[in-house]
Amino acid sequence: TAGRKIALVTGANKGIGRGIAEQLAGLGMTVLVGARDPRLGEEAGAAVRAGGGDAHAIGLDVTDAGSVRDAAEAVGERFGRLDVLVNNAGITGSGRISPADAFDQVPSSVDLEMVRRVFETNVFGVIAVTNAMLPLLRRSAEARIVNVSSHAASLTLACDPDGPLAGLLPSAAYSPSKAALNAVTVNYANELRKDGILVNAAAPGFVGTDSNDHTGFLTVAQGAVVAVRLATLPAGGPTAGFFAEDGPVPW
Ligand code: NDP
Repeated sequence: TAGRKIALVTGANKGIGRGIAEQLAGLGMTVLVGARDPRLGEEAGAAVRAGGGDAHAIGLDVTDAGSVRDAAEAVGERFGRLDVLVNNAGITGSGRISPADAFDQVPSSVDLEMVRRVFETNVFGVIAVTNAMLPLLRRSAEARIVNVSSHAASLTLACDPDGPLAGLLPSAAYSPSKAALNAVTVNYANELRKDGILVNAAAPGFVGTDSNDHTGFLTVAQGAVVAVRLATLPAGGPTAGFFAEDGPVPW
């Protein structure tokens, strides 16, 4: 692995995270495939290796403090530093995504425990993983942190009757969690600017994955593109931004 950049992608056993892992490996990085289920992580890691990449599975449940600590220790022992952290792991809600399944995000009837679980993964998990990995990221010459957000984070788009989110049902857990994630992103970026660590949020677009019963119209490879670009920004590149594949997203 000499000379290779080391990248960790959380929730990389499937979906967009797996696409990001494959593309970073394709760029010659050593990719740590984060997965809360070790068996699924090993399978995804083997698939990336089969495609010619250098990948290693790493057990990581972002909501489990012990798991986060162990993962940081493992990365430190094996690689001594981390160059890229992609906080991709995320959940939508209870898993019921369509109105026909009784949409679970209607604000006036939302299950508060579900809201807590969504924030636990999408926001608090990102803070936990970032803080655990920061000592390793600080040992990198040009560290990058990418937080996988969503167009649903944008309050500007949510208020635009003609915008791309018009017609979507109000979302009491997922959208607020991603708005909070964007705010967290900006604050890390401002703290870490002086260290040359660039921190940005990515909006992958509507990607067909298990999280939406594969109703999304983009492929996982297409959805991964913006996160990969933000993970490979040159020195002096943007920080504290929120980007989709076609440019900055107003939020
Ligand atoms: P998937 O459901 O396909 O994948 C989610 C991944 O996150 C899985 O690997 C899952 O692991 C993992 N994960 C969930 N909870 C945890 C946890 N506590 N610890 C570690 N890993 C966890 O979803 P997508 O690929 O669609 O979503 C990836 C990211 O992209 C999310 O942050 C999502 O919000 C965001 N996004 C997706 C969009 C889309 O259209 N698909 C649009 C905008 C944003 P497991 O397999 O064990 O469940």
